[in-house]
This record gives sequence, structure tokens and C-alpha cells, in this order.
Amino acid sequence: MFGNAPSPLLLDGRLEPGSGGVFDTLDPATGEVVGQAADARPEDLDRALAAARRAFDETDWPSDVKFRAHCLRQLRDALRRHSDELRELTIREAGAPRFLTFGAQLDGPVADLGWFADLAESYAWETDLGRAEPMGMASHRRIVREAAGVVAAITPWNFPHQINLAKVGPALAAGNTVVLKPAPDTPWCAAALGVLAAEETDLPPGVLNVVTSSDHGLGALLTADERVDLVSFTGSTATGRAVMTSAATTLKRVFLELGGKSAFIVLDDADLRAACSYAAFAGVTHAGQGCAITTRVLVPRDRYDEAAAIIAKTLARLGPGDPSDDRTVCGPLISAAQRDRVEGYLRLAVAEGGVFACGGGRPPDRPDGFWIEPTLITGLTNDSRTAREEIFGPVLVLLAHDGDDDAVRIANDSPFGLSGAVHGSPDRANAVAARLRTGTVSVNGGVWYGADVPFGGYKQSGIGREMGVAGFEEYLETKAIAEGA
Ligand code: NAD
Repeated sequence: MFGNAPSPLLLDGRLEPGSGGVFDTLDPATGEVVGQAADARPEDLDRALAAARRAFDETDWPSDVKFRAHCLRQLRDALRRHSDELRELTIREAGAPRFLTFGAQLDGPVADLGWFADLAESYAWETDLGRAEPMGMASHRRIVREAAGVVAAITPWNFPHQINLAKVGPALAAGNTVVLKPAPDTPWCAAALGVLAAEETDLPPGVLNVVTSSDHGLGALLTADERVDLVSFTGSTATGRAVMTSAATTLKRVFLELGGKSAFIVLDDADLRAACSYAAFAGVTHAGQGCAITTRVLVPRDRYDEAAAIIAKTLARLGPGDPSDDRTVCGPLISAAQRDRVEGYLRLAVAEGGVFACGGGRPPDRPDGFWIEPTLITGLTNDSRTAREEIFGPVLVLLAHDGDDDAVRIANDSPFGLSGAVHGSPDRANAVAARLRTGTVSVNGGVWYGADVPFGGYKQSGIGREMGVAGFEEYLETKAIAEGA
């Protein structure tokens, strides 16, 4: 898409090089440079914000639902026209296993744009509450939903299209204007969206701005800027805390999708082999770099060793492998820094008394790029840091439970509350699922991911919901109008 040229910024409807030079984007499987991206500076961000403000305040974008739906469908169709190119880019830049690009890493979120266009057209923007006489004064009351304003969308690198589009789609459908600031590790996935929006859609200038940068500080500037009405952030819990603190100075709304340490519970009446094999597959998909991945596996105490053997055997078969290979499940980690962080947790696990049932380090046959072997840690309890903190690598911790109540207690004994999974007889598994303090739960392999399903976290996993009607309504304000009657 960019050839040998650096990818551009999208500022006020124009594709521009920006004023900060360029920075490299890498292929995490090899460590090689894929290309360069425009490196935005604060003055570029300032222009993006001015344009977004103008497009919101001075055009009929916020009120023209039909036109917005038309533009979103154009954007979806443009992304589809370029899906072969985007697929290779996503595999190369994000290290995403090819099979995932047919779902949540590309095709899924592109299709979801159509769902948000349909929702905007069918949504009840106005509710008539009818006449009443509050304090004896006859009044006709209406409730109107309208766009929140200028949205700052700040995103991570692990599922770049899914997260960029799960913000841009509903935010634009709801009538907002957007400044998208992606992670420095995946600038091309976001820049591609900017190029297609500029060249293949009727999106008016300023409605969508894409600001790639090597500087995390641009995210911080967005959270503090008075021109921003709402910050929609996905990333780590530590950064989420900084976002909320900074946004508090101007009391802007924040929507936070943060980290997790989700539990995969195997009950004593589950098919242990099938459940543990699935836990292994789910745990190291995309090298464990998914916020909702179930990285604590809870099994009945008297079957702990058997479960460890099944999971270790499955993990050994699962990779790691070249992400461009359509059989690969576990690819590379995104960067040297992320690999070093995961290695730090592997050392911590040993210091805490953990034992590697498999993996535990870098694969010897992959000297280039950023790799960690699928790893199972045994011998720890839920109060270890290894079991409590998010590692964001292909690393599972196996914990023992003493029955359904104990499994629920352990699963909920976490600062996070993003997701979970339960395997067992349907009645018991559903009863356990109902008691988990998490935003999503899979029961016996059910998949909750979809445009119409709200996704988000309890506790320190976030505030608010993304996707679904709830995710759309995050981007709306509510206005009550009462007319003397
Ligand atoms: P990160 O928090 O380091 O960065 C996320 C984004 O925030 C990037 O664009 C970054 O440039 C920006 N940023 C950094 N400092 C900032 C600041 N002070 N103010 C504003 N913006 C700032 O996260 P990451 O390493 O890119 O992604 C991994 C994390 O994201 C993991 O913790 C993972 O669990 C989380 N995640 C959560 C979800 C979810 O939906 N809950 C989804 C995917 C990833």
C-alpha cells in the first residue's frame, strides 16, 4: 500500500508526511524493518484536533445519519477491496497468525463496520416521553441522543484493526469526529485506514484523523486537551490509570479497555483431555497477546498432574511458528521490549517456586525476531505475582481447585475482571459462569466475540463496553428537552 514511501498521516482530509520525520515499523518474526511511518509531533496533533473540532462544530456530520452510514459502508468496502494486501501487512507488522486474519485480526472488524452503519440507521435517536405536569406546569418531554463530540481513540498493537475499527466504527456511526492515535508498534495498520478513508470514501475533511507517532506522549496530550470530549482507550491497566488521571483535569469522559488475567475453569465433570487441550490452544494463540486470553488454568486438584501433562503436550505441538503459515497458532511477540518483559516474568515464576512443565525461554531455532516458547508453569498458587499479573505472552499458569465454589473463589480473586471460560456439565458450568465477576464468559467453548456483543471489563480491566449497542451508546450524550404545552 505504501510501496517504498513512508506511510502518511491523515490530517484534515489530507495525507501528509507530518513534521517529525519518520520512524521504523518492524516485522516481529524477523526483527527486519518493514518500512517507515510518519512520526507526528505535537503540532501535527494540534492540527488534527482543530480539524476534528471544526468538522464536529461546523458541519452537519453529527446530524446526517444517512450520510454517515454511507461513508462507513464505503470504508468497509474499501478495506475489503484491499484485504489481500492488508492481510499480509497485518501478519508482517503485528506478527498475527494468518488464520486470525480471517476473523478478529481483519475480516471480522471490517465486516463489523456494516453492523454499526445499520445500527445508526435503525437506532431510536429520539424517545417521546409524552406530556406531564411537573410542579403543575404542563410540559411535553423528549429524550434525544446525540454524539459526544471529538473522540480521541488511543489503541494498542495486539489486534490493531479490531481495536482501531471497534472505536472508529461506532464513534463515527454515532456522529462524532475522531483523532486516532495507534501504538508505535503498528503504525501501518492504522495508516492504511487513513489512506483508504482519504482516497476511497466521502468522509469529509476532519471527521477522521490518523496520527502515527513513535512518541507515547502524543497520547498523553490527547487526554489533557480541552478540545477532546471523550477518550476511548485500549491498552494496559497502568496506562489506563494515567489516562483517567489526566482526563480528570478537564473532566472529560473516559472509556477504558484494559488488561486481564482471565481464568479457564475445568470442573470435575468436564472432559479433562478436551478441555485442557482447548485451554492450551486458547492460551497461546497470537503468542498470548490478547487481553481476554485465559492464562490461569484451574483444574481439579486430584487431576493436576494429568492436566499438566495434557497441556504441556499440546503446547509443544503448537509452536511457535511463522505467522504467515496458515497452520501457525503461536507467532512472535511484538517487540524486543515485550519479549524481555515476558522473560522477566519467567524468571519471577522460578523465583516464586514455579516449575516449567514445558517451554520457559526463547526457542533455540529462532535467533532473529522476538520469540518465546509456549510455556506452562506449575507449582504456584493464586497469590503468586505470576498468577496475578498480566504477562501478555504465551505463558499459562496451572492452578488447582477443590470444587466449584473454590474455583469461583480463585477465579474472582484477581484485580482484573475481563473474561473467563468454564468447562463442565452444562448446568454446573452455567452456574459457575453466572458467579464470575467478568465482562465476558465462554461456557463449553462458546464464542462471545461479535459486532453485537458488548465487550469490556469489571474491576481494573476497564470502564464501559466496546461493540454492541452498549458500545455504540458509549459515544452518545443524552439530552432531555421539555416544551411548554
Ligand atoms: P500501552 O498501555 O503501553 O499503550 C496503549 C496505547 O496508549 C498506545 O497507543 C500508547 O502509545 C498509548 N499511551 C502510552 N502512554 C500513554 C499515556 N500516558 N497517555 C495516553 N496514551 C498513552 O499498551 P500496549 O503495550 O500497546 O498494549 C498491551 C496492553 O493492552 C495489555 O495490557 C493488554 O491487556 C491491553 N489490551 C486490552 C484490551 C481490552 O480490550 N481490554 C485489548 C487489547 C489490549
